[in-house]
Amino acid sequence: MLSVIYDVIVPGGGPVGCMAAECCAKAGLKTLLIEEHAAAGIPVQCAGLLSSNAFEECEVSERSIIQTVSGARVISGLGEEFSFDAGEVKAYVVDRSALDREMLEKAANAGVEVKLKTSVTGAKNGSTGCVLSTKGVDGIREFKSRLVIAADGPRNIFSRIYGMKRAPVFLSGVQADVPYEGEGRLVELHPYASPGFFGWVIPAGTGRARIGLCAQKDTDVHFEQFIRKFGPSCVHQVTGTIPLGIMPKTYGNRTFFCGDAAGFAKPTSGGGVYTGVRSARHAALTAIKCCESDLFSDSALSSYESAWKADFGRELAFGMKLFRMRRNLTPEIIDDLCRVMNEKGMADDIIRYGDMDRPGRIVRKMAFNPSIYRVAGKVIGNEIRSLFGKE
Ligand SMILES: Cc1cc2nc3c(=O)[nH]c(=O)nc-3n(C[C@H](O)[C@H](O)[C@H](O)COP(=O)(O)OP(=O)(O)OC[C@H]3O[C@@H](n4cnc5c(N)ncnc54)[C@H](O)[C@@H]3O)c2cc1C
Repeated sequence: MLSVIYDVIVPGGGPVGCMAAECCAKAGLKTLLIEEHAAAGIPVQCAGLLSSNAFEECEVSERSIIQTVSGARVISGLGEEFSFDAGEVKAYVVDRSALDREMLEKAANAGVEVKLKTSVTGAKNGSTGCVLSTKGVDGIREFKSRLVIAADGPRNIFSRIYGMKRAPVFLSGVQADVPYEGEGRLVELHPYASPGFFGWVIPAGTGRARIGLCAQKDTDVHFEQFIRKFGPSCVHQVTGTIPLGIMPKTYGNRTFFCGDAAGFAKPTSGGGVYTGVRSARHAALTAIKCCESDLFSDSALSSYESAWKADFGRELAFGMKLFRMRRNLTPEIIDDLCRVMNEKGMADDIIRYGDMDRPGRIVRKMAFNPSIYRVAGKVIGNEIRSLFGKE
């Protein structure tokens, strides 16, 4: 028997699901959030580096902040290095489990009904609504809603059930939390650690760092080589998957796809909290309109896709091109790039125009810098022209 009909069910209690559910409940929608684990934020599958904007989007207290970051150091691996320090907070390193937990508490306080230790195992979309099958603490059950906001992360069970195309690229990530005396407020980037992406060293409080990388294949091999440089101690390992490249259609069957479920992580960094939480807000706003007007057709749902595209669609499409371009950058070219980045004015430009969440502006500025073009133009010239047009 299905007694209660929810306006919205949100499978997934990550930052995206929590924000979507909270926004819906605040607007008066009867909202249920279903999370398969016993608590939000576990296991941690994140390096926890959030730009100040991404952190603000989460609307949480400062409790989860472990460290502030003001710049970065890029280490080519062949000798050259480049660094910049804005001298002010540009990003935060957070305890993701604490952040997720606070977001879930906020959602519950806003009126969201929360069901933990419960997994969504199936979904059906009929003319009167969606029926979700679950398995969990209460055994096997069904829940009915007028709409679903799928925020179930990289696995995205709904795209499989409804036969919808998923993100084209999946990166896998590994990270260890180790003792490390770095330069406190700078994040280190190590492109040589992963041929198609990069490795990172993220300061995580006094004398500790999160050291990891993402790759499309042989992730463990690359990680073993990389982590060896930093000593034998390896206290804690984080592993996870990052879908890159947005699924071709992010709505359908009374369902909105948000965050990692839709493939919204930034292809230049793998960071998905900023775009994910923004997508959650767009989905919630569209859900509110659909419920108010009692319209649930694909055409009613489609304004969600228009909204996120207008917000960050161009940046993600551009990021995907840069991700593909990254493969052409050999260690030698990266070494040359680090050298020319030390030329006068480069660091100032990064500090002035750089934006972790919207890198288009700074990349455009850099790409047409004659020094950069001289060392990398041969390899990336055609792609740059196709990205920006001839200048
Ligand atoms: C190694 C690594 C490092 C990263 N570093 C960063 C970083 O520094 N900064 C950044 O911004 N991003 C980072 N990311 C990406 C970031 O973690 C994700 O983009 C972000 O967590 C997406 O949020 P989400 O809510 O969409 O998904 P998730 O956080 O994955 O949440 C999905 C939730 O859904 C639940 N769930 C899944 N299936 C079901 C089901 N069937 N039923 C019920 N519940 C279900 C899961 O248990 C989970 O709680 C990293 C990712 C990895 C793998």
